[in-house]
Amino acid sequence: MVDLDDAGFATAQIHAGQAPAEHGARVTPIHLSAGFAFDDLGDGRDRFADADAGFSYTRIGNPTVAALERKVAALERGVDAIAVGSGQAATTVALLGIVGAGDHVLAARSIYEGTRGLLRENLARLGVEVTFIADANDPQAWREAARPTTRACFAETIPNPKNDVTDIALVASLADELGVPLVIDSTFTTPYLLRPLEHGAAVVVHSASKFLAGHGAALGGVVVAGDRFDWGAQPGRFPHLTEPVRSLGGRSYVDVHGRGAFAAYARHAVASRLGPALSPMHAFLVQQGIETLSLRIGRHSANALEVASWLEAQPQVASVDYVGLPSHAHHDVARRVLSNGFGSVFTVEVRGGEAGAAAFLDALTLTTQMSHLGDVRTLALHPASTSHALLDADERAELGIRDGHVRLSIGIEDAADIIADLARGLVAVEAVLASERRPRLLEPA
Ligand SMILES: *Cc1c(COP(=O)(O)O)cnc(C)c1O
Repeated sequence: MVDLDDAGFATAQIHAGQAPAEHGARVTPIHLSAGFAFDDLGDGRDRFADADAGFSYTRIGNPTVAALERKVAALERGVDAIAVGSGQAATTVALLGIVGAGDHVLAARSIYEGTRGLLRENLARLGVEVTFIADANDPQAWREAARPTTRACFAETIPNPKNDVTDIALVASLADELGVPLVIDSTFTTPYLLRPLEHGAAVVVHSASKFLAGHGAALGGVVVAGDRFDWGAQPGRFPHLTEPVRSLGGRSYVDVHGRGAFAAYARHAVASRLGPALSPMHAFLVQQGIETLSLRIGRHSANALEVASWLEAQPQVASVDYVGLPSHAHHDVARRVLSNGFGSVFTVEVRGGEAGAAAFLDALTLTTQMSHLGDVRTLALHPASTSHALLDADERAELGIRDGHVRLSIGIEDAADIIADLARGLVAVEAVLASERRPRLLEPA
């Protein structure tokens, strides 16, 4: 394998994780095989006893998936990564690797709706409690909500639809105070814009279905673990990691894996038992996406900045929530925390409320209306009637979601063509506004 210790990001995104393959195949082959033959009985015994002795069954490990795991771990500067079938599976595996019944999680309030549901409904049914923090960058809010049973803090790098930026170092130092790991969903930033482990996070999760795969074809998720957090520092805090287990010959995960205890547990006791395995086919597609990550994210970010700046100047637009704009409240945090750009998912509020948003969206021809993001194609979504439709008006107001809001995921087409399409949408908004302004006298009796 190439020595990549001093290599730049673009070099690492191509070469990291690759192992020499049969016949000199230069690209990691798709190992579509449910299982892997043992050389003999002794070899079978070894592979069952020691996870590092080789592959046995694809739910537990697969060479194509393992190559992707090494690549993402290297790009995030983590020590281990576990690739699973979706981002939602990654968050589930990460949290179930840390908490159990009776434990409490502190989570930023503005997070992916699927994650909020997982915490509020699924994990709640298993006896895990959660408190949501309204302002993730207010350390006092985390401190006040902490309980003796708090075992994890959770936040996203750039939650949507509001384009806030989490000051990860600040939340990490708070998590350190509490003696609990910080889990960061870095889907919107990818390791090209931000590496949460370098800011003090203990675990990073990704929906690889978004920017990492990048082409809107494959689903995937990744959990990445760093080596900063000491899982055995406080006896009794994470008993599943510090108490002896039979599969480790009566030793604990911490005894055997040290600071890698969480990653080993999440892989062997959570992911492989709950079973959200990543298909080797999708692992291949995600790894191909990552090979061009810096090129795509650079272009996504540049396009987004150009489009957001243009939108902000249009009379039919009430506001643009994009951290790349100096007008955004978190612009300074973003400049400090992000490198190489500000990402490409943001919200625009058109005038005219829901009627304005509908006219805008329905007039777009290049942009696709769909519930996805991080695609090479420009996508748009009306959060109030789709991703956040189940919330009542008060909850939507708390999250800052208004009827005129449209979430955009700016693609890597020519910026001029994206702008021309959005201009079509604003012409339709103008028609709605004009009909509202028309004096009542002219309306049919
Ligand atoms: C999409 C998304 C997820 C869930 O990922 P899937 O791959 O769709 O399961 C989690 N977090 C964020 C921030 C996302 O955008």
